[in-house]
Amino acid sequence: MAEFEGKCALVTGAAGGIGQAVAAQLRTAGARVAAADRDLSGIEADAHLPGDLTEAAYADTLAAAARDALGGLHIIVNNAGIARRGPVTASSDDDFAASIAVNVEAPFRICRAAIPLMAQAGGGAIVNVASCWGVRPGPDHAVYCMTKAALASLTQCMGLDHARDGIRVNAVCPNEVDTPMLRSGFELRGFDAQSAVAELGKTVPLGRLAEPGDIADVVLFLASEKARYMCGALVEVNGGKPVS
Ligand code: NAD
Repeated sequence: MAEFEGKCALVTGAAGGIGQAVAAQLRTAGARVAAADRDLSGIEADAHLPGDLTEAAYADTLAAAARDALGGLHIIVNNAGIARRGPVTASSDDDFAASIAVNVEAPFRICRAAIPLMAQAGGGAIVNVASCWGVRPGPDHAVYCMTKAALASLTQCMGLDHARDGIRVNAVCPNEVDTPMLRSGFELRGFDAQSAVAELGKTVPLGRLAEPGDIADVVLFLASEKARYMCGALVEVNGGKPVS
């Protein structure tokens, strides 16, 4: 039997680089997946739940919508995120509010609604996609790092508080991953994304940036029975490059 046969999963940011890989790998492993993102055209999933995570009513009801669409809910991957660049002195009110809304408030709202539903149905696993920069500071991304540190802390607290409910909450903390988020950051600064990705890859002890599948494999591990004794862990996936 496939590893996730009979499991139902909600993946946010499912149209993005890491989210698409997570959704595809979960489906390959037998899970039924509800995909959430602003635009899900062309995304293969068992249920499509488009919407904007900065809208409280959407985030508050997403877990129940996924459960209703799939007939159950065992796994949530809070993967959607935005990365606004700059030190504090170059960060706007909108950078601050939008980063909090997507990277912290939405996972908070989703987990708050989902945990009782999942507990009542026998438990489950939540995997948050934080960042190495939520564990240690990174340069020129003060607000982003702050939000990922908040998500990391929320993960540790929920891991502690809800183990007794049968819910395991853990986080994957990637360093740089070759996704649209990373490439659009290079393009905004006028760099050729392809050569910037190759150059940055040379700074990683393993010799390359992570591909989305490298991160998705660890997300699936944390969502699986193999991680049955892990609660509140922050798992760095960094190719040997713990800081930038
Ligand atoms: P991505 O930009 O390819 O995907 C992010 C997805 O989130 C997008 O599809 C986007 O539409 C969705 N999203 C953003 N705001 C939303 C909103 N308001 N409502 C609904 N959906 C929204 O980026 P990615 O690199 O795949 O990032 C996935 C996660 O991994 C993020 O949380 C990111 O912070 C984290 N991460 C990425 C890297 C990296 O180098 N790429 C490193 C560490 C952590």
